[in-house]
Amino acid sequence: MTAELISGTEIRKAILAEVKEEVEQMKEKTGKVPGLVTILVGSSPASISYVTLKVKTAISLGFHEIQDDQPEDISEEELLKLIDKYNNDPDIHGILVQLPLPKQIDDKKVLTAINPDKDVDAFHPVNVGRLMIGGEEAIFHPCTPAGIQEMIVRSGTETSGAEVVVVGRSNIVGKPIAMMMAQKGVGANSTVTIVHTRTKDLAAHCLRADILIVAAGVPGLVKPEWIKPGSTVIDVGVNRIGMNEKTGKAILSGDVDFEAAKEICGKITPVPGGVGPMTIAMLMKNTLKSAKYALKV
Ligand code: NAD
Repeated sequence: MTAELISGTEIRKAILAEVKEEVEQMKEKTGKVPGLVTILVGSSPASISYVTLKVKTAISLGFHEIQDDQPEDISEEELLKLIDKYNNDPDIHGILVQLPLPKQIDDKKVLTAINPDKDVDAFHPVNVGRLMIGGEEAIFHPCTPAGIQEMIVRSGTETSGAEVVVVGRSNIVGKPIAMMMAQKGVGANSTVTIVHTRTKDLAAHCLRADILIVAAGVPGLVKPEWIKPGSTVIDVGVNRIGMNEKTGKAILSGDVDFEAAKEICGKITPVPGGVGPMTIAMLMKNTLKSAKYALKV
């Protein structure tokens, strides 16, 4: 039987529509809307394209959006001052600094200068700690793991008591999603195993998974015989495996052998069109959440 596809494109649409509606209600009630500032240093084409997408999405939802472009040679001190300005601006609820930053700037210093209550990317150590504590403490979840959890919940996958295996232990995907799935709460309460490059028998662990989350960055790493029949497979990997000569666009593949896997599992995310589109939607959701806290609505 062919697995049900969990479409990130469709779920993103639904989330953005929900956020937009809440923004309208907030405006009616308080006269205010969520405020997001996106700081872009320099002019790397990839960074410009990411920032443009974030800005466009924020504007389409009715956010107060500031795109603050800074020159490549901005000093660390100047950038820290700018962050301080937005930390103290009551109309700004989310501060994003697009990475990577130029060499003269210590990105750790910059990211930790952001007020944790406005850190909608959730990379600040305070937010990492809050995530670990869980419950009400965890104001923001980092956007890619939050998108993964949302896809699991909205696809109707049972998480309570489920065996979850996470392939990969990075700070931005593997570790946070593993912690989130192990917490008490909706879309969690799972029994979680993290596997990585030093794991002895990757296949045996994956085969136990009711929910398999793969974030390794290795195309085709997960073979069909590693997949438990009927399970839910979330493929986070985005790998460029070639170039479409006609369109000039990169050909993308996930970390799972999709064509074979979809004949075994119950539900699966495609690449592209799976986890990828979710990240920006969750960023917008975090900014809305931050504004709700600040405005007490
Ligand atoms: P990373 O390189 O920081 O971490 C990869 C992890 O996978 C490491 O912990 C490593 O131990 C593990 N790993 C690598 N090869 C392995 C192997 N052969 N066997 C077992 N474990 C192995 O990567 P990351 O930042 O976590 O990203 C992982 C993938 O997810 C990448 O393809 C990335 O492009 C993608 N990604 C997608 C999104 C999105 O769609 N929004 C966001 C972040 C990352």
